Amino acid sequence: GELHVDEFEHTVRIGDLVLTGEDTISIDGSTGAIYKGSLETQPPQLHGAFGTFMGWVDKFRDMKVRTNADTPRDVSQALDFGAEGIGLCRTEHMFFKEDRIFQVRKMILASDLETRKAALEKILPMQEDDFYQIYSLMKERPVTVRLLDPPLHEFLPKGEGEIKDLALELNIQPARVKERIAELQEVNPMLGFRGLRLAIIYPEIAKMQARAIIQAALHCHEDGIKVVPEIMIPLSSDVVELSRVKETVKEEIEKVFEEKGKKIDYLLGTMIEIPRAAITADEIAQVTDFFSFGTNDLTQMTFGLSRDDAGKFLPAYIEKDIFEKDPFQVLDQKGVGFLVETAVEKGRKTNDKLHIGICGEHGGEPSTVKYLYGVGLDYVSCSPYRVPIAKLAAAQAAIENPRNK
Ligand code: PEP
Ligand code: MG
Repeated sequence: GELHVDEFEHTVRIGDLVLTGEDTISIDGSTGAIYKGSLETQPPQLHGAFGTFMGWVDKFRDMKVRTNADTPRDVSQALDFGAEGIGLCRTEHMFFKEDRIFQVRKMILASDLETRKAALEKILPMQEDDFYQIYSLMKERPVTVRLLDPPLHEFLPKGEGEIKDLALELNIQPARVKERIAELQEVNPMLGFRGLRLAIIYPEIAKMQARAIIQAALHCHEDGIKVVPEIMIPLSSDVVELSRVKETVKEEIEKVFEEKGKKIDYLLGTMIEIPRAAITADEIAQVTDFFSFGTNDLTQMTFGLSRDDAGKFLPAYIEKDIFEKDPFQVLDQKGVGFLVETAVEKGRKTNDKLHIGICGEHGGEPSTVKYLYGVGLDYVSCSPYRVPIAKLAAAQAAIENPRNK
């Protein structure tokens, strides 16, 4: 929050210090401290005493620990750290890759369905290959893939140069690109056209992703890896809205099964990250196989506190002892926790098979992990490097307050 990033000047200011693209910084992932220059580092040792200790941890632990990962590199790293599945694969990160951003932009700029579908067809094999690679690494461990979440304008070019280049490639006027950027601009994108709202207006995007997920899984089955894909729909707030997207996804999956002449099991679930979804969880649970708490958004919307702007004043709240801790780091049990508990209780009441986890940043924070163990979650999911600490917290919770006596 103390860094001032100037996107246009390409500088970062911290107090009096100004860094440019030429500078290197080192970050301590445990404390968040930033050092100027490139500190000497070494990869963590995962065997020896650490391995023995984690073996003890696993003996006592009875809540699963998954990871948030969306590249094969992160997935391998997380497996080394002992992740038992993927709780969140954010597909938008795959859209940004250099070799496909052009097709993504074409898809967004398309003014008619046919052009959009043609661009999506080019993205399909790339997404399918991403999922195939991830499934192949994870073997039979569970993998939750989330459908596209961010607002579309995030993928469009920024600055005159990039706009001109894209217009040239697409053989259209730069003014058309600018027009589309303006059309997609939102006053409050975090509360705007994102998550499953995209799938409601552009079902073909969700269809392409569902097809890529299922085709990749079918490919794995041919290789002898019996993947059960978990497809996660983000940002739902209402059962009718969610049911519509679910139907779109299911229809496309049935089409794939028919084309390939083979069926496999899959799960369809949603993120609980809007307060209304938590409050109406009994309805939502009737049309889903699983819930995953997106506590980043849930915290934002419960506090009415923007994730992107809170840095301007939240540190002062902590300094002035108004908040004890940053609610984006340590889950607010009284408020956000109330919604989580409500959703777990209501959800399980109407769907006794409902599988429940968390994939917000809080999933790797030890005090939150212990709290969520008590609430009855089946798993937590966190960044690869936090898997060991989350496992330790889960084991401690199981010893201090066992839920399976
Ligand atoms: C969340 O909101 O907690 C979440 C995991 O999704 P994202 O951070 O991608 O919005
Ligand atoms: Mg979210």
